[in-house]
Amino acid sequence: MNTVILKFGGTSVADNIKLNVVAKKIISLKNKAKNVVVVVSAQGKTTNQLIKEAQELSAIPEEREMDMLLSTGEQITASKLSILLNRKGYPAVSLTGWQAGIKTNSIHTSAKIEQIYTKRIEQELEKGNIVVVTGFQGLNEEQDITTLGRGGSDTTAVALQVALKADKCYIFSDVDGIYSADPNMITMAKRLDEISFDEMQEVADSGAKVLHDRCIQMGKKFDCDIIAKSTFSDEGGTKICQQIESSEVKSIVKNENLIAIEIENQQFYDIYQCLLENNILVEAFQKREKVIEFRIKKSEYNKVIELLDSNYPTCQVKQKDLMKLSVVGYGIIQDNQVLNQVIKILKKYKIEILEVNLTLAKIEILVKEINNEIVKILHEQLIK
Ligand code: ASP
Ligand code: MG
Repeated sequence: MNTVILKFGGTSVADNIKLNVVAKKIISLKNKAKNVVVVVSAQGKTTNQLIKEAQELSAIPEEREMDMLLSTGEQITASKLSILLNRKGYPAVSLTGWQAGIKTNSIHTSAKIEQIYTKRIEQELEKGNIVVVTGFQGLNEEQDITTLGRGGSDTTAVALQVALKADKCYIFSDVDGIYSADPNMITMAKRLDEISFDEMQEVADSGAKVLHDRCIQMGKKFDCDIIAKSTFSDEGGTKICQQIESSEVKSIVKNENLIAIEIENQQFYDIYQCLLENNILVEAFQKREKVIEFRIKKSEYNKVIELLDSNYPTCQVKQKDLMKLSVVGYGIIQDNQVLNQVIKILKKYKIEILEVNLTLAKIEILVKEINNEIVKILHEQLIK
């Protein structure tokens, strides 16, 4: 093998003991591959903690400054890991996103990678160094630090896989692959050996915090398989790869991180534009009679309320909690069988359905509320 990318998530690098486990893993792969590029996340809950501290200083901190702040988390991990690898006799060098040549657009807190100038990384590899790159960040045209959005280190890893034409990209975390449901919620959830990019995309869009959604799009676009594995075991793993035709249910995801907003007597275009210009991810924006309705992530709620308050001080905002249930499997909607089964179960347990949406790889059902017991029953019936 020539070049491999190894990405380690926050839990895997949380403290010095874990960094030692990670270093061991890197060394064992360095003994097999000529070039090793490591991408790291911030340690443990560092990013959350930094956000919390910033919000104690200001309810809505400037996004440019947030990028400056949050990018430091990854820098700590990368330097510590390099120090450790060097001490173990494996020459390593840490590079920040900008030192690694990662150029992004200027959308602070959710920047997109436009280009990677790989020269510096290649020079370091040439010297025999293990290159440890900070995930989640880059530099924009104005030479300001940007970040790629929460969980964005996965995207850094796959982007480097594409740019360096690496043979393999491993995303290591504390779980040993992708499961048919959240194993913390459904104990009988099973690990999948393979899942297609399209299905994985739907799982990520459904709110499962498994892989950063943009890394999946990138893997699909450039046909680069991604391997999700555990840092703490050699067993298991899931390969995310091109579609092999199938029509089974692969995964069930429940998303509670949603909020529906209703606004009366306002202009459709004004509100919509205001949200879009402020980079709010809006789902299902619609107008019924005099009411505008849309859905956002709970985490964006404060920002949206603040925006509406300052731009439309007289508008009446109502909010409703809701949940989304996603049944993922490429081709499952080609006949009505799976949908029929789902509806039967939801009816039996008197779940109030608000909306049903179908895509090629997913049945998505919005409900007022659904408890884990019913998700478990769905899993039992739908996943063989
Ligand atoms: N540290 C960042 C976050 O917590 C990026 C990442 O972990 O991928 O979102
Ligand atoms: Mg992550």
